[in-house]
Amino acid sequence: MELLNNTLAAKYSERALSRCKILSEISEMEGGILRQYLSKEHKACNLTVSDWMTEAGMTTWQDSVGNQWGRIVSANPNAKRLIIGSHLDTVPNAGAYDGILGVLLAVELAALVTELQIELPFHLDVVGFCDEEGTRFATTLIGSKALAGEFSPDWLALTDVNGVSMEQAMTEFGLTPNDYSSSALKPEELIAYWEAHIEQGPVLESVDQALGVVTAIAGAKRAIISFIGHSGHAGTTPMHLRKDSLAAAAEFIVSIEQLAKNSKNGEVATVGQIEAKPGATNVIPGKTLMSLDIRAQNAPDLDALLSDIRSSVEKIVEERNLAFDWQWTHQAGAVDCDEEIQQLFKSACVANSEDSPFLPSGAGHDAMAIAKVCPIGMLFLRSPKGISHHPSESVIDGDVTKALSVLYTALIKQKNASL
Ligand SMILES: [Zn+2]
Repeated sequence: MELLNNTLAAKYSERALSRCKILSEISEMEGGILRQYLSKEHKACNLTVSDWMTEAGMTTWQDSVGNQWGRIVSANPNAKRLIIGSHLDTVPNAGAYDGILGVLLAVELAALVTELQIELPFHLDVVGFCDEEGTRFATTLIGSKALAGEFSPDWLALTDVNGVSMEQAMTEFGLTPNDYSSSALKPEELIAYWEAHIEQGPVLESVDQALGVVTAIAGAKRAIISFIGHSGHAGTTPMHLRKDSLAAAAEFIVSIEQLAKNSKNGEVATVGQIEAKPGATNVIPGKTLMSLDIRAQNAPDLDALLSDIRSSVEKIVEERNLAFDWQWTHQAGAVDCDEEIQQLFKSACVANSEDSPFLPSGAGHDAMAIAKVCPIGMLFLRSPKGISHHPSESVIDGDVTKALSVLYTALIKQKNASL
């Protein structure tokens, strides 16, 4: 049977939700949720999840960078690995579901495999990543990049706000810092990586759908752009003799918004920070710095929007006779979800009477890093009001039940296809 019994689906998904609440109590901050990489809360969380994995019939281990693993061992001597998971770390003052729910749904899926005595021709591996958010050290996706063999030895020297290096923190956690490479996965052993995650946006809610199948994880580029004009007295400098850097930035910001609105495939562009110098009421701003964050589903779309934005800034500075400077601060390429896994998830949704539209992910995820070593697929759950990274982040109980049912159907389809 490819469909999960409704009673079991409700029972196991309710337990996943109640466990999200339990993990939300393991926090570094008073009155809110914070779990950073290599903290004692990270360790306590791994131990708790490890106990639940054991209860679900899994063998468990923690890898060399601090990811938590559980496995339903296959009897097949040539078994490959199907990995399902997400992350267990959080941003400061987080919600209870971002990342966490994806891990706990995978644990419930494993518990169902044990309960229903399903024999899988592959190992079912559940992973709880140790650092997706990158809140402690100035780098993200540490756990998943280690699995992809992309842990950089330079990271060991990175320090947190208290001056503690990653190397020191790993040692205090009980890890061997120079052993990071032993976490790397062997591509020939892998079938795929699946991740269920809250959408963190308003799209599924706007179309009244519980679940969505992710097509791609958006590429992102970030830059700091400076406009250089002339400072001058606000009372004595006539309007036609001014070189106002802030007015130029303002014109540019509005043009960025318009260009992104006109883009074809849901590209987005945001100016989230701006600083005018010298920053006085009675002085024309001589220099203005602004941030730019631009995201798209694929490189050509990103480049096309970027090229329009560049043309716009060049036109504005020429007309206003100013100079500008453009510094890149971050560039990550878009990652496609595997076409076959998209179809597998879609057919599992349809089998469970869910329409489940295809949609891209505007936010980054561990799956981006894992895509280097195996095919990836992601299933999104509706985010009420699109809220995430906030205490009022939520999920609808029935959506979680549907997500578990769909993952179950996808697992059985994968099993049948692998036999
Ligand atoms: Zn997340």
